[in-house]
Amino acid sequence: MSNEKKKVKTIKIDLDKCNGCRACEMICSAYHATPRYSSNNPARSRIRMIRKPLQDVYLPVYAGEYTAAECMGRDKYLIDGKEYDECAFCRASCPSRDAFKEPDSGLPLKCDMCEDEDEPLCVKWCINDALVYEEREEDMEEEVVQEEIETGLKALADKYGLDNLVDTIARMSKKE
Ligand code: SF4
Ligand code: SF4
Repeated sequence: MSNEKKKVKTIKIDLDKCNGCRACEMICSAYHATPRYSSNNPARSRIRMIRKPLQDVYLPVYAGEYTAAECMGRDKYLIDGKEYDECAFCRASCPSRDAFKEPDSGLPLKCDMCEDEDEPLCVKWCINDALVYEEREEDMEEEVVQEEIETGLKALADKYGLDNLVDTIARMSKKE
């Protein structure tokens, strides 16, 4: 088993400070536009705001793992007297809703912590400090890496078919 270190990046969310301005959605979608910053469509954002101003509910949620099947049991949360909808805290790109899917292709979206940026842009743009970036190092086990690769490949196989995926990988390996 490998003792390689991995950097764990976390964004802490302080719901009391979020006012639902949606600056985080705007900068995320602009950063991930092609070419970069060429457009601004919150549907492409890897962070989505759940806003219910009448109930004073402002909940930023980050896109996490893709899941091929929706879950059968769902939870409702009552926190500090505020009721959050079923699926509100779920980060998955899932068949039961439109959240965290690229609007043109339908491919799952996942927060990538802004790749090469020194700090996630949504954190930088949140002037209310509702998003706080933290970093730490942890030992990485080989199985975890394997699991991440399998999840990514499964999403592509579900979208394009296993045969297409296998052909493409075979073509790519010949080019190397
Ligand atoms: S930028 Fe900050 S305050 Fe504005 S919606 Fe996003 S998390 Fe909330
Ligand atoms: S960290 Fe970057 S990719 Fe992730 S939600 Fe924030 S702006 Fe988007």
